[in-house]
Amino acid sequence: MIVVMRVGTPEAELERVCEELSTTFGVSPERIVGKHKTVIGLVGDTAELDNMQLKEFSPWVEQVLRVEQPFKKASLEYRNGEYSEVWVNTPDGKVAIGKHHPISVVAGPCSVENEEMIIATAKRVKAAGAKFLRGGAYKPRTSPYAFQGHGESALDLLAAAREATGLGIITEVMDAADLDKIVEVADVVQVGARNMQNFSLLKKVGAQEKPVLLKRGMAATIEDWLMAAEYILAAGNPNVILCERGIRTFDRQYARNTLDLACIPVLRQLTHLPIMIDPSHGTGKWEYVPAMALAAIAAGTDSLMIEVHPAPAKALSDGPQSLNPEKFDRLMGELGVIGRAVGRWEIPQPAAALV
Ligand code: PEP
Ligand code: MN
Repeated sequence: MIVVMRVGTPEAELERVCEELSTTFGVSPERIVGKHKTVIGLVGDTAELDNMQLKEFSPWVEQVLRVEQPFKKASLEYRNGEYSEVWVNTPDGKVAIGKHHPISVVAGPCSVENEEMIIATAKRVKAAGAKFLRGGAYKPRTSPYAFQGHGESALDLLAAAREATGLGIITEVMDAADLDKIVEVADVVQVGARNMQNFSLLKKVGAQEKPVLLKRGMAATIEDWLMAAEYILAAGNPNVILCERGIRTFDRQYARNTLDLACIPVLRQLTHLPIMIDPSHGTGKWEYVPAMALAAIAAGTDSLMIEVHPAPAKALSDGPQSLNPEKFDRLMGELGVIGRAVGRWEIPQPAAALV
């Protein structure tokens, strides 16, 4: 349920209304300060609350609306139609991800393999215009015999790459026991597709302060996904980015997954949360990545995640879907054409694309 307050409601009145709502009805009010209006979001047992009663609470109450969706804080209604932005602190400064901001590109290898490769990749993707370096220290692999990531030592390498380039770091948490170590290095904590409904992990990432990148489970409906985001929001962390990375459908012969680009307009109607598209896991083949990345920008994504490896043929994980740095440079040049056409590109044309 949301209580929309009139423009110019005095601060003391906002405080009084919040205080009274929590003492009288035992619900927890959350103040959402929008560009024009302040909305008070109420979550908890609101079934008994009646709209008229709430309207009489203060002459400054403009409207009282019920959020009909099962996801409350994640819904667009909860913010009265205003899209949220996630601000990420990176060594190079704050970067905003959201509908009203330039597109941010996250790039890097699937796994952090060694110091030389992660630093070299970080420098290349930074020069091409990426704002974030991705790289797994803890890898969720289908086979227990496959490379599982270097763990803690890879976190140190990510920290070194952050220091060397100024890029923000995005890396995955698989086990809540590693969360404290991860948040020391990561600027955004990734919850992978396989953990999208690991509710105890969601509560823990929701209880810490770094923004969370929530990948869509490979068999998750959009509602499952938004309910997973709700866990993080309900635990107190408002900074969630949704990442589509392909879902399982009946045809896996040619593409690893089916990248659901239709989720972009769907999510825009349902949620205020920012959107990222990952065409690398979404297709499983580097040859298909550029077309889907271009389409994602045209369809309105707020950010992209692209796997880049200095020598994909030798990669310890996801080589077939990784671009080499030259191909990534070229792709960034192409993305700029669409990005500028939709007015959301502030990355200078990379030198490689100009020749
Ligand atoms: C990854 O980003 O490397 C990864 C494992 O992604 P997903 O959880 O989408 O499979
Ligand atoms: Mn990968």
